[in-house]
Amino acid sequence: MTFTGRTILFGILLLIVASCVVLVPSARAQASNANVATESGHPASGHAFDVKAAVDAYLATIPAEKRARSDAYFEGGYWLQLWDFLSIVVAMWILLRLRWSAWMRDVAERVTRFKALQTALYWVQFALVVAVLIFPFTVYEGFFREHKYGLSNQSFGQWMRDQVVGLAVTLVLGAILLVVLFGLVRRVGKNWWVWGSVVSLIFTAFVVLIAPVFISPLFNTYTKLADPRIREPILSLARANGIPATDVYVFDESRQSDRVSANVSGFAGTLRISLNDNLLKRCSLPGIESTMGHEMGHYVLNHVFKGLVLNGIVMVLTFALLSWGLNAGLARWGESWGIRGITDLAVLPLAVLLVSTISFLLTPVDNTITRTMEYEADLYGINASQQPDGEAEVDLMLGEYRKLDPGPIEEFLFFDHPSGRTRITAAMRWKAEHLAGAPLGPESGARP
Ligand SMILES: [Zn+2]
Repeated sequence: MTFTGRTILFGILLLIVASCVVLVPSARAQASNANVATESGHPASGHAFDVKAAVDAYLATIPAEKRARSDAYFEGGYWLQLWDFLSIVVAMWILLRLRWSAWMRDVAERVTRFKALQTALYWVQFALVVAVLIFPFTVYEGFFREHKYGLSNQSFGQWMRDQVVGLAVTLVLGAILLVVLFGLVRRVGKNWWVWGSVVSLIFTAFVVLIAPVFISPLFNTYTKLADPRIREPILSLARANGIPATDVYVFDESRQSDRVSANVSGFAGTLRISLNDNLLKRCSLPGIESTMGHEMGHYVLNHVFKGLVLNGIVMVLTFALLSWGLNAGLARWGESWGIRGITDLAVLPLAVLLVSTISFLLTPVDNTITRTMEYEADLYGINASQQPDGEAEVDLMLGEYRKLDPGPIEEFLFFDHPSGRTRITAAMRWKAEHLAGAPLGPESGARP
């Protein structure tokens, strides 16, 4: 389980989550051992390497029924985004219309006179009530649907345990953010949204920074990779790319699913290269090298910082619209919902409603920001690892839960990573150019 899950649904954290999707160098998952026949794509001596034919040959190795299942899973996800959004709208409407929000604020004010504690207390009530309201949806999307498509290894008890831990993290982080945001609203008046977006951005950076050390270990166990046959090539790749790591860590994501993932996180003393046990078990060494090259690309290309800048722009826009929407909404319904004004804690459901709407509408923008950086990391990874066929192997595995061959508009709107076809095309294009010219690596595309 990672913080990038689409299923973290509540509260103002929607905004943070939208950013984390971009900022946490993301997992790459994959499927069965691609025993790939590249005959049609393989360079016959004296013939130009046909990139499209090589890509088609790779895609054709996935049986039709597996393709259909993965397409159905991924396309269903388009609708889930809409249902996710609507479930939040309904939950917030209940909190406002039935005045539950005003009631929770009254409880917080009765318990303590300290503003910060009131905020934290209100948030805890809010987050718990919302978690209960949307629970049927969460359990369908996060548990039953994943099992239906054979994508989860968790029993219900294990899944619930992760949900509870995730909720606890949300309670703590959300309380910190809201105490600061409401403090700002009270102090700086009508320009609060400028400061609010700056604070939220700093908070996002903070979460990204602490996540590998304090949050990820709550869900998985990290151990040092002992096998030198895997560790040494990864460390060599790291040294060659200016990444000062001395160890490689493995985390046991197989307890959640068969998805493959890896990351390079932290900086200076906390710098760490991690990959999951699925990647180790399911992939060839070239596939592992290409994946680690991709993750190193995120690191070397400073994607965390670029993501922060791009998200900063989205964040300012979101807060400007939020400020406008809150004023308009309160003028119209504030009294009937029992909300005293913009500094009143009870306003939170309206804020979440507005942020969710803005985020939902900006989904293609968020996706494009992420997908663009993912593609950059792909190009970096292929160049660094010089394993185009390893890259294709992993891309096919990712096709277990991400549609391999979508239309261009579909990819633009819904994909937060490039599709399998796009990624394999990049790999085969690299291979074609390196076969055509002086070979860069030892026999480009050598495969077991
Ligand atoms: Zn990536």
